Amino acid sequence: MRSIDRDVLAARFSEEHALFREIHPRSEALYSEASEHLLGGVPMAWMKRWPGSFPVFAAEAHGARVVDVDGHEYVDFALGDTGAMCGHALGFVTDAIADQSTKGITTMLPSVNATWVAGELTRRFGLPVWQFAMTATDANRFVLRLARYLTKRPKVLVFDWCYHGTVDETLVTLDTAGNTIARPSNTGPAIDPALTTKVVQFNDLDALEAALTPGDVACVLAEPALTNIGIVLPDPGYHDALREITRRTGTLLVIDETHTICTGPGGYTAAHGLQPDLLTIGKPIAGGVPAAAFGLTRELAEQLQAFLDDDGVDVSGIGGTLTGNALAVAAMRATLAHALTEDDFAIAVPLAQRWAEGVGTTIARLALPWSVQRLGCRAEYWFCPPPHNGAEAAAAVDGPLDAYMHLFALNRGVLLTPFHNMALLSSSHSRADVDRHTEVFAAAVDSIAS
Ligand code: PMP
Repeated sequence: MRSIDRDVLAARFSEEHALFREIHPRSEALYSEASEHLLGGVPMAWMKRWPGSFPVFAAEAHGARVVDVDGHEYVDFALGDTGAMCGHALGFVTDAIADQSTKGITTMLPSVNATWVAGELTRRFGLPVWQFAMTATDANRFVLRLARYLTKRPKVLVFDWCYHGTVDETLVTLDTAGNTIARPSNTGPAIDPALTTKVVQFNDLDALEAALTPGDVACVLAEPALTNIGIVLPDPGYHDALREITRRTGTLLVIDETHTICTGPGGYTAAHGLQPDLLTIGKPIAGGVPAAAFGLTRELAEQLQAFLDDDGVDVSGIGGTLTGNALAVAAMRATLAHALTEDDFAIAVPLAQRWAEGVGTTIARLALPWSVQRLGCRAEYWFCPPPHNGAEAAAAVDGPLDAYMHLFALNRGVLLTPFHNMALLSSSHSRADVDRHTEVFAAAVDSIAS
């Protein structure tokens, strides 16, 4: 069995970093200029999470390709961390945006496209009634609020190392004694999250049952497979048990399909026949334009009549002025009509299998204790055997190794999502793109294995 030589890793990282600076002079100059008036030199703090001491500035992106301001072309496996999952700048999305922008972007009135989009979301995910949001974060925040309103219960339950956006209640983890605490990096938590949230490990049914039995949890907010701390798949039978326990304890079940839409056109929910009470989805459903949605059962929709009839519905804590704007809804319609279809997945899923096999070949050749996990068209490698829950996955995070693998790939024209060792495959990718990653991955590992 081979292992990673840490001294070699540190030395090779310095070399890669020198190469990165040498070949990205324009990005470095733009970053220096940006640092004067942008906090941290970036429009959004997490853009500093790319490997290297400054981010690469994008010039344009088409399909599964990004071109930077220094003229380098990248195979893009990040796809805007799912926001551009269908591919960048696809004609049917850009046409719809251009068309709607000449007819008014936001008016306070519903547009006809919204009816079509809600019908299509029903066809895909099964839930019969929908409402829109701007982002998946928004959709999750609104759903937590509605779940509390409907159940009159104060708490929510999430899984350890989940991510559902910048939703206060969900930026939590467990301490070693099993208490809910703010997760590391949760900046300025509004209140002690133990007051709002219970946390259990994914795949731990006993802990779930114990947490829901007191009857104070309004809803479980769950990704059907964890995707934000590596891919952690549910045990066989886990979802049946989750549904049974939530029903028995009067707890609503919310499935967040924002990333697990990688499973198929109706996400993990349709592929595995899940029966959530509410479902949230954001990121790719408008081809990269900010838009999200949440769906609910007819029964819950009827229980919301008083909320809808209240004169204060505009200040209820649900929605925003630009939510459901005509541009976002037109982009949703164009995307859901033409993309994320069975045909797209028939191309993207085999490409993800090929990507995972390519990575697996190097892992096996060097007998490293690493693994590669896949869910539909999303695949991710991990520096440990497949984790069974978030805590196991988090314990295996290896910052220096992550940074090296990402920088090595970036310097050779391959972009991976900065926070994960993850690739999202789309119908815009080709087998040659996947093989390029396989080659670069093998070269990166060979350069540091001893
Ligand atoms: N839900 C899940 C499962 C996510 O992975 C994310 C973001 N990574 C979100 C919600 C939040 O999405 P956004 O940042 O677009 O609001």
